[in-house]
Amino acid sequence: MQRFLALLLISILVLGGLWLFAPAREANETAAPRREAATALIGEARRGGVRLELPEAIGEVAISEAARPDAPLVLIDPGHGGRDGGATGVGGTREKDLTLAMAREVRAALVEEGQVRVALTRDGDATLTLDQRADLARRLGADLFVSIHMDAAPNAGASGVTVYSLADIASTTEAAALAEAEAERVGQVVSDADAPVEFLLTDLALRDQMSASAQFARRILRRAEASGAVPLRPTPHQFANFFVLRFGQTPGVLLEAGYITNAEDGRRLASRAGRAPLVEVLAEAIAADLARRGGA
Ligand SMILES: [Zn+2]
Repeated sequence: MQRFLALLLISILVLGGLWLFAPAREANETAAPRREAATALIGEARRGGVRLELPEAIGEVAISEAARPDAPLVLIDPGHGGRDGGATGVGGTREKDLTLAMAREVRAALVEEGQVRVALTRDGDATLTLDQRADLARRLGADLFVSIHMDAAPNAGASGVTVYSLADIASTTEAAALAEAEAERVGQVVSDADAPVEFLLTDLALRDQMSASAQFARRILRRAEASGAVPLRPTPHQFANFFVLRFGQTPGVLLEAGYITNAEDGRRLASRAGRAPLVEVLAEAIAADLARRGGA
């Protein structure tokens, strides 16, 4: 009997101790979310909720509201950012600033129409890896993904918009080099062998993703041609194996909005008015693509 009482006393002390220290542990967790897996698990069990291990940079993504709460979601990805400035254009413009400005303008146009929900991978000058961008597309369950970039070339005459959709084999050596450069910039290699297993799609799902990507690219280019106000490259639809397109697990394109190393393109892309025709084309194509795929 005495032994039983002693055991009971010890149990009460242990449980009481756990209860007393629990709030302190929770506070710690908030300060350093990824510190210790064990701590995270205790917190998760106690709250009875699901804990998403989001990297800090993508922990606070705002999703704009649409007319319907279940409206489809497009994730717009302003290329580069933070330590990675991207290309430098005429007059010293930086790709990372122009991609962000354009992404915000596309979001504003879509929010005004109210048919789709919109999120940005970054809404400031944050450094994001390609992993984090693709990860965000998967975690948000985005229905469409648009990565915005600006081209640069040693030849100052190169100009016009290019839309890249996902493919295993690049359409030109230039397209292949671009996909590699984008990956190398953040030290990543586009290869299934290097990807975590949860990134990999079945062959069939990947083919579907590629064909939906190509369809979306053609839609953008048809509208751009019809507008007559968006200068395109001679072969504006290109294919390449871009990391963010492959591992985002959602249809999408990588848009090169023009060459900031070209005087005319550079001027067009540096001002809100200059970007407006392309912004409008993109917003219309996004809304139309999502509507056609049954979301809106
Ligand atoms: Zn870029």
